[in-house]
Amino acid sequence: MKANQFIIIGLGRFGSSIGQELIRLGHEVLGVDRDEEKVQELSKIFTHAIVADATEEEVLRSIGARNFDCGVVAIGDDVEASILATILLQELGVKKVVAKAVSELHGRVLERMGVDRIIYPERDMGIRVAHQLVSPNLLDYIELSKQYTIAELAVPQCLSGQSLEDVNPRGRFGCSIVAINKPKGIIIAPAANDVLAEKDVMVVIGTNEQIEQFQHSLNK
Ligand code: ATP
Repeated sequence: MKANQFIIIGLGRFGSSIGQELIRLGHEVLGVDRDEEKVQELSKIFTHAIVADATEEEVLRSIGARNFDCGVVAIGDDVEASILATILLQELGVKKVVAKAVSELHGRVLERMGVDRIIYPERDMGIRVAHQLVSPNLLDYIELSKQYTIAELAVPQCLSGQSLEDVNPRGRFGCSIVAINKPKGIIIAPAANDVLAEKDVMVVIGTNEQIEQFQHSLNK
């Protein structure tokens, strides 16, 4: 995989966690924060980290912001600074701009500015945790659209030893198991005679309703 170059503005918990994971994945990260302590802490981990005010155009220009593949604006509380830093990255020509929003209104402003991706970390994580709390088998999910989801479901004891043909989620609920993650490795597009075991994870695709019904059947 080609290493991409990221610029992260705001090195609080959100920005620093994104940056550290990008580094772990082999990418290059420049971190910018006006707080010297935060910059010092991350300068050993990030490719570069500098103390600067990201609302100053000259600062971002001199860093060469336009050469980055992606810019992440991870400033939250200071909405004005978040908006200014975002517009500067866009105007300097950063290819993709992602920004954190702390409220619906902040998010609407960023949307109108044409930000490529808006993230509401607390709201989105809250929704995710709520789904996982009410569905003990649900490990993770991705919403493909308003209607369709891919979900990772833990195989419960009651399905252990059953083949996909026995479980038959497509016939019973309309959703399909597209992969089974087993401790030994992942089976992509499993066959009808593949057998589930308790430690396995099923990757299921379908409408929200179909997946909910399948999940429900696992807890009976
Ligand atoms: P998090 O929830 O990510 O921990 P936080 O609540 O600590 O964030 P925020 O107000 O969201 O704080 O700001 C995140 C970071 O952005 C802080 O480290 C702050 O110093 C930095 N920051 C805020 N304004 C600017 C700016 N104009 N230029 C550079 N850095 C900034």
